This record gives sequence, structure tokens and C-alpha cells, in this order.
Amino acid sequence: MSVRPILLWPDARLSQVCVPFDGTDATLIGDLLDTMYHARGRGLAAPQIGVMQRVFVVDVTWKEAAPEPRIFINPVMISASYADMRSMEEQCLSIPDLPMRVERPHTVRLEWTSPEGQPVSDTFDGILARCIQHELDHLDGRVIFDHQTPERRAALEAVHAG
Ligand code: ZN
Repeated sequence: MSVRPILLWPDARLSQVCVPFDGTDATLIGDLLDTMYHARGRGLAAPQIGVMQRVFVVDVTWKEAAPEPRIFINPVMISASYADMRSMEEQCLSIPDLPMRVERPHTVRLEWTSPEGQPVSDTFDGILARCIQHELDHLDGRVIFDHQTPERRAALEAVHAG
């Protein structure tokens, strides 16, 4: 497995909707994990390394405790707690050093395919739910800029442009 380069905003691929995972890139999942840990991130989506397919990895515990990698292939959000929204600062490996607040449902339920090809579903909350939603956004060409008000986004993009 190896570390691949991470695309940086505003690379146009970060704004594209991904197609289903096709399994032809044999080292994709291992490389996503290697690249995420190397970049000291908690999540990484395939489009961030230029593979425009619906797969992402997250590990929200490895910095403080034992690694707990989770792999989501063709994930679909089937419900979310829109009555319980929480706002927190997020960072993105494709937009380095520019944290911004994002409001998201506290709890989400997902269906996806495991690396062994099995259908799986589970409910997540807290920081894990937040990371999952952030990565799911990447599969649909959305980044944390897209969660800002137009005024806030303009200000943040000006900071980003330096
Ligand atoms: Zn991101």
C-alpha cells in the first residue's frame, strides 16, 4: 500500500459527483487508509486522491487510542436527525489550515457495502457521524465551504486565497 497525493481545493474534481465503486483499483482502500494516517486525518474520501468513486474511510479514535479504521463502500444515508442539529468546527485535508464551523445532524443512519462485499447498515452519532457526513459530502462534490453562508464563504475563500 502507499500514500497518494491529496488533491487541494479548488481542484475541479473536488466538486464532482462520484460514480459507484467498481473494485478495479485493487489498492484503493489500503491507499486511502495509508494516505489518511500519513496526513494525520480522521477521514478521507476517494475523490480526494483523484479516484472518482463512492468510497471513503474514517478513523476517529486513532490519535487518542487504538486505530479503528472503518471503510464505507457505496454508502447511502437513509436517515438523519434533522431535528437535532449541532454546529462544530471541521477541518478538511483538501483545504489545509482553514477550519470552519459546519452544522450537521447529530445522528445518521447509513447503508453501505463492506470490503467483503456484504451489505451493512448502522447508526452513528457524535464525532463519528460528523466525520461520516463530511466524507459523504465529498462523494457528492461538496466541501465545507458549501455549508457556509455566502458572506462567510466569501470571507473564508479570501483567507484561503491568501
Ligand atoms: Zn474533507
